[in-house]
Amino acid sequence: MKLPLSDPMSPFSLPENPDAPKLLHPTPAVTVRQEIDNMGWVDMGDHVLIVDALEQAENEASVLAAIHETTQAKPVRTVLNTHTHYDHIVLNPVFEERFGATIVNARTTAVPAEGLWFEGQDRRALFLPMPDCHTSEDCVVWCPEDRVLFTGDIFGWGLIPWEKGLNRAKAECLKASYERLIAFEADCVVPGHGPVCSSAELRRWVVYFDELIGSVRRLCTNGLAPAAILAELPPPDDMSEWWRFRQWKHQDTLEKVIAAVTAGDL
Ligand SMILES: [Zn+2]
Repeated sequence: MKLPLSDPMSPFSLPENPDAPKLLHPTPAVTVRQEIDNMGWVDMGDHVLIVDALEQAENEASVLAAIHETTQAKPVRTVLNTHTHYDHIVLNPVFEERFGATIVNARTTAVPAEGLWFEGQDRRALFLPMPDCHTSEDCVVWCPEDRVLFTGDIFGWGLIPWEKGLNRAKAECLKASYERLIAFEADCVVPGHGPVCSSAELRRWVVYFDELIGSVRRLCTNGLAPAAILAELPPPDDMSEWWRFRQWKHQDTLEKVIAAVTAGDL
């Protein structure tokens, strides 16, 4: 299946129905089950490594069948959770019970700052902490042989991933984390939710976030009220087709930036 990867020079194009479940193959060894909630698996050669475990238990049969089919029935040895929100862990017990798989996340495992490597016969995966972008437990998964990066909910198609209030320190933490993600130069970036993309979208979000902060500061200094600032700053044209961005994510991000700037925190 053709991946909806975007080119930095051309606008991102969404798959026809981004919310319908579909199996994507960024490389022959990596499968992404893309829906509203995403999960993926890597054929490590002698076993299967899973990234994230969805929200709805009724997906069990279709997920197991898809893994079986795409990996020639190899056993699942490891499940990595990018964080432990309910929409990323529901099928964990299925993999434990059926395969004896090890569940690895920031709660089950002491993950050093430099990350943990998981090795198979043919390839490796790095489970790397990147805390305090979305939750205190965030980790990302990097598959170097395939150049695929699973970001969990750190990349949210325009959203500020942190929900508990924005300030200067948090903005710096987010930008520094994004620079680390961009430095992987991944060919395929798999967010926790929605369509997959490329490193170009990570770079674009940092520019967008910085420009938004600058614009809101300027408009606040000029005395504009929040409603007028919202009207003054529409979604950028090149991002208007980002998943759910024009519909509500741009406004959500803008409201968070306005609240932080007007409180003197940003
Ligand atoms: Zn999530």
